[in-house]
Amino acid sequence: MKILLLGSGGREHALAWKLNQSVWTNPLYIAPGNPGTAMCGKNVQLDINNFDAIRKFCVNEKIEMVIVGPEEPLVNGLYDYFKSQKELQKIFFIGPSKTGAQLEGSKAFAKAFMKRHNIPTAAYKEFTVDNYEEGVKYLQQHDLPIVLKADGLAGGKGVVICQSHVEAIAEFELMIQEAKFGEASKKVVVEDFLKGIELSVFAITDGKNYLILPEAKDYKRIGEGDSGLNTGGMGAVSPVPFATPGFMYKVEERIIKPTINGIFKEGIEYTGFIFFGLINVNGDPYVIEYNCRMGDPETEVIMARLETDLVGLCIAATQQELDKIQVRADERAAATIMAVSRGYPMGFEKGFEIKGLDGKYGKQSLIFHAGTKEEDGKIVTNGGRVFCVTSFGKDIEEAVNTSLDVLEYLNYDGIYYRTDIGYEFKPPSPKGGLGNNL
Ligand code: AMP
Repeated sequence: MKILLLGSGGREHALAWKLNQSVWTNPLYIAPGNPGTAMCGKNVQLDINNFDAIRKFCVNEKIEMVIVGPEEPLVNGLYDYFKSQKELQKIFFIGPSKTGAQLEGSKAFAKAFMKRHNIPTAAYKEFTVDNYEEGVKYLQQHDLPIVLKADGLAGGKGVVICQSHVEAIAEFELMIQEAKFGEASKKVVVEDFLKGIELSVFAITDGKNYLILPEAKDYKRIGEGDSGLNTGGMGAVSPVPFATPGFMYKVEERIIKPTINGIFKEGIEYTGFIFFGLINVNGDPYVIEYNCRMGDPETEVIMARLETDLVGLCIAATQQELDKIQVRADERAAATIMAVSRGYPMGFEKGFEIKGLDGKYGKQSLIFHAGTKEEDGKIVTNGGRVFCVTSFGKDIEEAVNTSLDVLEYLNYDGIYYRTDIGYEFKPPSPKGGLGNNL
């Protein structure tokens, strides 16, 4: 099967690595890809938001399946475009319709959807310039902290957690009156703060049936102990020790089933991955957000653990036959640690040579490229998040330690990574410091 994967990050390298193992795949194209995906298939220079260019490529190369990595083309309606073009209609497409992608593309849409289907989430209200004054009054009497969310896509930066009323009102003004996130913050969702530990759950769905993939926990903050600024993700672990069968039963009954049933009842076309960003509040799961695609860096541990053929899963989804297969996962734990550029998530420089990528690190470790590129025969840094090292272990501690060992051999000017990924799940350190705080 001729497959085209869209995207160029660590998530796409992990997907390409997994797709490349399937007997169905022949060949795999990745657009635009990165030097890591080039080891799993053929990179093609295509702008993933240029639908016409994608159409031409698919027709010329007789592509049979398209898998979309990032959210932007989906929110912009790539699925609907494929369905509207006669020559593309038969291509298996993994990614939801524009309406389905609104679960990620509009926080207000997602909140209203959850309300309609009784899915547990934080209480909220939405505001625009039209009810701005009402919004200010609402904020003044709101319990602290207050969560403000730009309605639209804001590159992962649209959520601000405010510790004072003054800060909340200033942020609210910036978002609505000063268009801090452009169009995305013309509408703002104000939400109650939920206290708990977060968890990422993924499913693949055909809009009616679904299969749950291995769960993961990601680490978004730049600093050790979850301190400092938010990033695109500094690491992830899977499985998640608190995702016990009892807790996952609640997740499935209260969240996954009502979400998929809601998609079905509302006639939303949705064939693809769905991400449930959850928070465990005293043993009860709540939805923080939906994504209409796989997460990054969670994919870098989930694909590592997934034993089921990914192409087979995708075909089954397009044929509404997900109820006929099962997801199998490696029993071992997996952990990934992201190496980033000095200065990230603020300003950083690019173009530094990465040394050690060709080392032999054994079967228990994988290196997934994210912001890298090839220049004069060398691999150089080309982004804030540069690459990640995923390792297996008998438990999270062993998996993390193995990735840390491999990272010792990898280097570029300004390399930085967190050494405490999975810290909540390690035994208490005899030296004190970060330990088990669950
Ligand atoms: P989101 O983009 O919606 O995933 O939000 C980014 C991050 O903000 C989440 O991963 C949470 O850590 C945090 N967050 C969002 N909403 C809430 C909430 N209602 N209560 C507590 N934390 C939240």
